Amino acid sequence: MKVLFVSSEVVPFAKTGGLADVAGSLPLALEKLGLEVKIVMPKYKMVKAAGNKTVIGKSLEVLFIENEKYFGRDQLYGDRFGDYPDNLERFSYFSKACLELIKKINYKPDIIHCNDWQSSLIPVYLKTIYKDDPFFYNVKTVLTIHNLSYQGLFDKSQFPQTGLGWDLFSVNGLEFYNKVNVLKGGIVFSDLISTVSPAYSKEIQTKEFGYGLEGVLQGRSCDLYGILNGIDYDIWNPGTDRHIAKNYDANSAEDKLANKEDLQKISGLKADKNSPLIGIISRLADQKGFDLIAAIIDKLLKSKAQIIILGTGEDKYHVLLEKIAKLYPKKASINLKFDAVLAQKIYAGSDMFLMPSRFEPCGLGQLIALRYGTIPVVRLTGGLRDTIREFDTATKQGNGFTFSEYSDSELYAAINRAFGLYKNKPLWKELVKTAMGYDFSWESSAKEYAGLYRQLVSSQARCGVR
Ligand code: ADP
Repeated sequence: MKVLFVSSEVVPFAKTGGLADVAGSLPLALEKLGLEVKIVMPKYKMVKAAGNKTVIGKSLEVLFIENEKYFGRDQLYGDRFGDYPDNLERFSYFSKACLELIKKINYKPDIIHCNDWQSSLIPVYLKTIYKDDPFFYNVKTVLTIHNLSYQGLFDKSQFPQTGLGWDLFSVNGLEFYNKVNVLKGGIVFSDLISTVSPAYSKEIQTKEFGYGLEGVLQGRSCDLYGILNGIDYDIWNPGTDRHIAKNYDANSAEDKLANKEDLQKISGLKADKNSPLIGIISRLADQKGFDLIAAIIDKLLKSKAQIIILGTGEDKYHVLLEKIAKLYPKKASINLKFDAVLAQKIYAGSDMFLMPSRFEPCGLGQLIALRYGTIPVVRLTGGLRDTIREFDTATKQGNGFTFSEYSDSELYAAINRAFGLYKNKPLWKELVKTAMGYDFSWESSAKEYAGLYRQLVSSQARCGVR
């Protein structure tokens, strides 16, 4: 089985969020199952600057689409002034170039696995412009939606940049309230659709989470699957992580403390092993619940707690967090940047990891935190609902602290339950050990994807042959 995995970002070449982690680890897990996988992504400026690496793992080949005009820029999708205005043109070019490239090198995959709006035009092109091209006969497409709130919406006047005929600018095509919606094209035209957790696959078919596409998704519900993301257990491994002060595993979790001390030291926090240290690593976006954090942060920092935040994003949160940093220099460490090494130190050195998301397709932060024995405090939505359970002191089951209603008082109460248990050192130790025992590696999820591919290739998809 040959798979072409198309992604606009891939670890270690370029990353803005979870998609890059998935694109840099799921293909390797599929390869382990015996599938032949190649990845294709744009050759951004940062990729060029990083040198000539063209593989991930030992030998999984990454193909790059090079175009100075479109990808020779500092960022992937936009700068501080907003999205690049020519994004539709850029990713139309990318999608077409992927198809032309595999034709040129004569690599005919069984499956083209597209991800998010940036590669959503591929299924559209295959069923229209390329439909009579014998090279693409029997090539099937899977589209994974990593976050439905990014749909690739553009003004109608830009539609010709896709190279598609106006007949496709219709309700059954890419038209969406008189705009171009690229993700919608992918949903309509791909053979199968998946999203990154079972809970999110249900949520996106509702008005609350569907961002206007709930009807289109309901229309394809029989082709829509929810497969939980995994994380790469070789990369995220406190036992071997070279960037942390002291390595540890579930049986030596007390060595986590050395990482806390190191983190307090390098981030200017007061050296105090008994203060509960909360870590947050996140895009600073409304989705991630920063308005709730903003509402309680003063109260929190007036208690014994310390907090370390790493993230970039919306200006309003930068302003707010800079203010907090000034008010509480010894209790709050605010790092407004993207820093993969500091991220690893935070996962290892914090006691708790906060994700009060408004919605969360899967979330990787909580999975990485569990791996490092850092206890997630999360709102039960999407993938957070599928992965985190409130710790029950009686049965000693569970791996974190949770709340349901999107309110600052509920969040505050969940954090306080965590603080309460934190004081009980033997029980906390047990919780850390239990959390580290969960397995969210790719193994089982990669098998689910392989199963989907097989279904498609043997034309036994649930909804019949398309
Ligand atoms: P999303 O994809 O919505 O941003 P996820 O939780 O799925 O959220 O994935 C986020 C990934 O990006 C995690 O690996 C997290 O550690 C990483 N990350 C987010 N912000 C930063 C940052 N400022 N510096 C380093 N890593 C970050």
